[in-house]
Amino acid sequence: MEINAAALKTKGFFQQAQTDKFSLRLCTSGGTIHTDYLKKAMEIADTYGEGQLHFTTRQQIEIPYIPADNVEAVQNVLFDAGIKTFIGGPRVRTVVACLGAAVCKFGQIETGELAKEIHEAYFGRELPAKLKIAITGCKNNCAKVEANDIGIRGVNHGYQLYFGGCFGHETRIGKPFLPVLVEKDQVLNVIACTVRFFASQAVKGERLGKLIDRIGIDAFKKALEGAV
Ligand code: SF4
Repeated sequence: MEINAAALKTKGFFQQAQTDKFSLRLCTSGGTIHTDYLKKAMEIADTYGEGQLHFTTRQQIEIPYIPADNVEAVQNVLFDAGIKTFIGGPRVRTVVACLGAAVCKFGQIETGELAKEIHEAYFGRELPAKLKIAITGCKNNCAKVEANDIGIRGVNHGYQLYFGGCFGHETRIGKPFLPVLVEKDQVLNVIACTVRFFASQAVKGERLGKLIDRIGIDAFKKALEGAV
């Protein structure tokens, strides 16, 4: 059987070190899933994998050890269950979030619904490079927001945004360029402006932090004018 690993990767199946096996990444946003979703993931792992689940550092569920021969059957199960798979590459990635004020007593902002709104508006949008977003409810920073292209942190019941972070081949700490925002709509406006700016100004493979370095912080701040 001929395996087109590149094509399967775009559908959430990542070829393993054992090249006849694939690790399936499911798409979640905000780090909270319902038990039905987990049961379905367990069923796939038991039926088509080796009964293992892995939780990635960006809160995705991964099901390893799926033989290439089982990929099509798994795709049918996912389709029937309405479960979407992770999309990598130069796109807006899944949004990471801590539990936030809805559950955590330290939380200064609600995080789960905000993650869902951002995810539904932007997940998978094609861009010159990947764009990672994370939301954390308070200064404890469980979601490590400065390691993301856009980070949102709850401060005194408002939103402090960080821009230009990354953590991978290179490590950069995101910086706050705006005052603490009071309204969620302001946050959504700033994200919309940032995504537009990034889409129009970045060159292929250039992360947001490098773009800001190249064109200057003043140009970036100008792009955000009117958003807050
Ligand atoms: S960052 Fe704060 S609000 Fe979020 S889980 Fe950690 S302690 Fe709770």
